[in-house]
Amino acid sequence: MRILIIASAFFSWCAAQAADSPVAIVIHGGAGAMERGRYTPEEEVAFKAKLTEALDAGYATLDAGGTALDAVEASIVILEDSPFFNAGKGAVFTRDGANELDASIMDGATKNAGAVAGVKSVKNPIRLARAVMEKSRHVMFAREGAETFAREQGLEIVAPDYFYTDHRWNALQDALEAEKKDGKETALPVDTKYGTVGAVALDKDGNLAAGTSTGGMTMKSWGRVGDSPIIGAGTYADNKSCAVSSTGHGEFFIRLTIARDICAQVEYGGKSVGDATHDMIHNQLTAMGADGGVIVLGKDGDYAMAFNSKGMFRGVKTASEQRVAIYGNEE
Ligand code: ASP
Repeated sequence: MRILIIASAFFSWCAAQAADSPVAIVIHGGAGAMERGRYTPEEEVAFKAKLTEALDAGYATLDAGGTALDAVEASIVILEDSPFFNAGKGAVFTRDGANELDASIMDGATKNAGAVAGVKSVKNPIRLARAVMEKSRHVMFAREGAETFAREQGLEIVAPDYFYTDHRWNALQDALEAEKKDGKETALPVDTKYGTVGAVALDKDGNLAAGTSTGGMTMKSWGRVGDSPIIGAGTYADNKSCAVSSTGHGEFFIRLTIARDICAQVEYGGKSVGDATHDMIHNQLTAMGADGGVIVLGKDGDYAMAFNSKGMFRGVKTASEQRVAIYGNEE
């Protein structure tokens, strides 16, 4: 009898070990001044269709047994290739009219990470960040070094004008014009639409990953690097707590180490993903007079999509839920 009980306990333990974790993916396409009425119904449909395409690609990867890292990369590549978002094609312009791209990725299982800053010719910076993580001894490459590494890795290189879009160029001209009128240097436009993209995923093995990709902020100075490629600020993932991708006024996200702080509140403070995220965005970020948002996915699949700006392009897909949204108070 005793042997039977032990054997049956052993078999249920084995079944539990073999059981797959519930998979989930959460994405964002930037936070900012997106109040209702800013976009036409047609534009809203187009934005949501692109977010859905990115969610579906990430989820399909997870559903087929792929890793959280693969899912994050699959979703972000779609958003980078879309001119709607401030990452890859459609990136914002620096003060002197260039596109300088930043990206990072982190593996929650190993806490390995890769990041790139100020790249100008790599079609998909998130792929380059992943190559830095997996194919180099380093965590971060910048500018020419990053470009050389991209070429060595055989990543797709494009001419700088690949990233050009009229709307981003016009946004730069408007910002320069406003600065001239004010007669003083507007450091960085506030209450704007950020448009960075990011994804966090949980795979069937219970591994978390996070990634973020951006063109930065309109009219940023040459060489300015924001939070998106900074591990702990724009991106963080640790299987012990959560995975985070940020969007917003990067200088503040760096100073608050937002992504790491949320995970630390979960890991050491025993907080839920929702409470830790709320504290960071609605207490600490708001207290600094800054705006933006984060997506957060916990090790058990609990998630948060929080922002203190008017809106945030966002979406989530799990076995039981799928939704995308743009504005505040939109379910
Ligand atoms: N966080 C990004 C930066 O500061 C901007 C964004 O979220 O769109 O570079």
